[in-house]
Amino acid sequence: MKVLVINAGSSSLKYQLYDMRNELVLASGRVERIGMDSSIVTHEPVDKPEVRNVSEILDHVTAVKRVIDMLTHPEFGALSHLNEIDAVGHRVVHGGEVFSSSVLVTQEVKLEIRRLFDLAPLHNPAHMMGISAVETNLPNVPQVVVFDTAFHQSMPNTSYLYPIPTVLYRRHKIRRYGFHGTSHAYVSTHAAEYLNKPLESLKMITCHIGNGASLAAIMDGKSFDTSMGMTPLEGLMMGTRSGDIDPAIVPFVMNKEELTLNEVNSMLNKHSGMLAISGISSDMREVTEAMLEGDKNAKLAFDMYAYRVKKYIGAYAAAMNGVDTIVFTAGVGENSVALRKAICDGISFLGIELDEQRNSERRKDAREITTDASRVKVLVVPTNEELLIARDTYTIVKSLESNQS
Ligand code: AMP
Repeated sequence: MKVLVINAGSSSLKYQLYDMRNELVLASGRVERIGMDSSIVTHEPVDKPEVRNVSEILDHVTAVKRVIDMLTHPEFGALSHLNEIDAVGHRVVHGGEVFSSSVLVTQEVKLEIRRLFDLAPLHNPAHMMGISAVETNLPNVPQVVVFDTAFHQSMPNTSYLYPIPTVLYRRHKIRRYGFHGTSHAYVSTHAAEYLNKPLESLKMITCHIGNGASLAAIMDGKSFDTSMGMTPLEGLMMGTRSGDIDPAIVPFVMNKEELTLNEVNSMLNKHSGMLAISGISSDMREVTEAMLEGDKNAKLAFDMYAYRVKKYIGAYAAAMNGVDTIVFTAGVGENSVALRKAICDGISFLGIELDEQRNSERRKDAREITTDASRVKVLVVPTNEELLIARDTYTIVKSLESNQS
């Protein structure tokens, strides 16, 4: 079975084509600047050189058409005919309280995703455009949606409710949803396999630390708590997002700086975090380089970033009454030797003994970075959200086929 994975944004669309017999990527790519006259399609077949094409792509229907043209191109395509695409899996950011697992796209599912536009106004409408565009281009191909929030639907109400008037939860569904669920699910499963232990037997903290960042406490194989909240703004300090702040700062700043709600929202989402504190960049590589060259603000940003991850690890170890596995993943978690060391060195009381040599190795596979004697195992596990989307899509469509036969 060949599965096309799509991550549709409002002006971009990323894709990966998988052969599920061996879970190998046949081709991947992205369409950027959808809606403009100079849209760019970058197509990367696995065994051929990258192809770039600039043309007018005004909507997602045309974007998907161009993706199919690329995939079936006689020279650099990966398919001889579009009917070789057996299923399409989409990343959808918000599944609200309705979706606790991936599902086949039906009229009812589309209606529910539309009902959730309020909770993810920037993302869900774009995902719906992706789903409709596939329907237009590949009308008979089954589609599956995989939600970023689904994995965290197992949280108990003590984790997901906010201590504010409950009418707000009842009326508007204001609660913690959590995000990066596909990544937390993927790396926790992979980490358990690596350790050769059942996931259900482990108390695990997964640290997805990239441009956006979140931690998850995973107990009995399920998400027990996570640091992002109703939106992806809560929790850790991130590239440009503030993470946790005193909510009273919002009205105070609006009043003192005469800012509108939109302006404060933009300040907290786009002009805070590492960018604000370092005054240099939201990018961990650039901040680390500046720190090593002696920049004090860059060092402060780095230290604050590490400190906040450490605090959450402590909180989640307490929440689960223990921790035996910590997993680092995503751009920073997989690559920043210095940040992993800064975090692990400060929480040795938990039973973590970092192996400096293992931590400094630059490898692309899952690995342990603690000593053999360390009570808590710390792993680096590269995330692969697309593969999890492809797997869920395959499983759902396969079960559909066997039910029909
Ligand atoms: P992501 O959002 O998962 O793509 O992660 C992006 C973040 O990962 C950026 O802040 C990058 O600076 C960071 N990153 C990527 N490679 C490295 C590296 N070798 N060292 C430190 N940070 C890195």
